[in-house]
Amino acid sequence: MNDPHIKNIVIVGGGTAGWMAAAAFARVLGTQVKVRLVESEAIGTVGVGEATVPHLKLFNDLLGISDIEFIRQTRGTFKLGIQFNDWGHLGDSYIHGFGHIGHSLGLLPFHQYWIKASQHGFARDLAAYSINTAAAPRGKFMTSAQDAPAHSPLADIPYAYHFDASGYARYLRGYAEARGVKRIEGKVCKVRQHPETGFVESVTLENGEVLEGELFIDCSGFRGLLIEQTLETGFIDFTHWLPCDRALTVGCENAGPPPPYTRATAQTAGWQWRIPLQHRIGNGYVYSSAHISDDEAAATLLANLDGPALGEPRQLHFVTGMRRKFWNKNVVALGLSSGFMEPLESTSIFLIQSGIARLLNLFPREGFSEVLIDRYNAQAQFEFERIRDFLILHYKLTTREDSDFWNQCRTMSIPGVLQDTLELFRDSGRFFRQAEEMFAEVSWVQVMIGQGIEPRGYHPLVDQVPDKELRAFVADTARVIDSCVDAMPAHQVFLDRLQSMKG
Ligand SMILES: Cc1cc2nc3c(=O)[nH]c(=O)nc-3n(C[C@H](O)[C@H](O)[C@H](O)COP(=O)(O)OP(=O)(O)OC[C@H]3O[C@@H](n4cnc5c(N)ncnc54)[C@H](O)[C@@H]3O)c2cc1C
Repeated sequence: MNDPHIKNIVIVGGGTAGWMAAAAFARVLGTQVKVRLVESEAIGTVGVGEATVPHLKLFNDLLGISDIEFIRQTRGTFKLGIQFNDWGHLGDSYIHGFGHIGHSLGLLPFHQYWIKASQHGFARDLAAYSINTAAAPRGKFMTSAQDAPAHSPLADIPYAYHFDASGYARYLRGYAEARGVKRIEGKVCKVRQHPETGFVESVTLENGEVLEGELFIDCSGFRGLLIEQTLETGFIDFTHWLPCDRALTVGCENAGPPPPYTRATAQTAGWQWRIPLQHRIGNGYVYSSAHISDDEAAATLLANLDGPALGEPRQLHFVTGMRRKFWNKNVVALGLSSGFMEPLESTSIFLIQSGIARLLNLFPREGFSEVLIDRYNAQAQFEFERIRDFLILHYKLTTREDSDFWNQCRTMSIPGVLQDTLELFRDSGRFFRQAEEMFAEVSWVQVMIGQGIEPRGYHPLVDQVPDKELRAFVADTARVIDSCVDAMPAHQVFLDRLQSMKG
């Protein structure tokens, strides 16, 4: 009888997804499993993907990569949130920050008190009550202060990174190879499947080398070499809700110190990102080709750079959606091969990380059990769909009428779950996170309020706090945040200090 244990993993693809998977397997599985990664320099990688969410720190922690090392290797900067300009209407601006908003009094989240204070005219903008959203526009940054009292906003400052994606993949390659992962240069030109089960048995490279394995990780990018071209798994298209299908990207020179946040500015037929790194700014225009020509999109991108462009814009085509199955037979798709959603909330690298963690949690001991595979697929599908809905929210909540693109987004039908979420929030500012969906209440609340929802009411328990006390509570909260931000160093100063540290 054949040995049912997984002893050989073959990763096809060496972009961010492939090397993240290789590094994590090497760290967690150790010598229990032999890991080989095949990649083709001739094909190359997508190489964008420069903004992240705070979860990446957990991944780096797992690998033992410190902030100092990471920021140095990737020429990265820190990120407190994303600034959205012109989304609700032309001229508006709000920040979706990663931190808490205020603090709760008893059962209720802070925003419930804020809604009443706002209706009575004594609240400031919601951003004034969170350390992340107050610090970001002032260009201030620090990591959580270890010596601050536990209740101080300075004691808990969640953050993510902006970084050079190719620098990260290079670094992870060194990490993985040092721990036994074997990298093979070459192009996969043939895939052999078991004649009865259809399981992938081996991949063959152009030079004739054959790589056999029990488990195959498809990190081959948009083409989905194993999951789609071989297994024909199928694709669920999200274009109806997220119509952007192209991106133009270009770097430009820095124009001053890097701000500690990503900027996403809504344009006529999509939106433009600005991602500050230490040595340059990453920019891109994500747009719908049905609503604007490539030339017009390029002109818009170039007209809205902070500094001189560093080359010609590069174009990428994509279809927004996800595979019908992320794990099919003995193939698990990670990264772009598993599906794609535009980088509006910087979620793609998170999805890679979460796919790796899920696979390690459900790693089969003997053979491939359908129960494990089904659970993997159900969790991944739920995660994709809830992020999809969070992205749709940004488009649906526009009041813009200045282009066909925004008219389409404003009037489109949306998934029922999202519709219910909006109605509940419009009624009385209530929100309930579904299971372990990625974005928490503070994220949904900031975007819904940021894009113009003014809840009609609030929770009745808010009225237990006398008006005078409520006024003092919200004013004190903002005052504490202000004084904490005053005490924070400028982002650039923090970066300089970090770089001069040993580690
Ligand atoms: C416009 C745009 C902006 C983005 N911005 C962000 C962002 O800000 N934040 C974020 O989290 N994510 C972002 N992403 C997503 C992010 O870029 C990807 O999730 C990430 O780069 C992972 O890509 P990948 O490794 O799956 O694929 P790729 O980078 O395409 O790598 C594919 C690999 O497969 C190899 N390969 C393919 N075919 C073969 C073959 N036949 N034989 C051998 N090797 C093969 C290639 O050589 C390559 O090594 C963005 C994506 C796009 C398109």
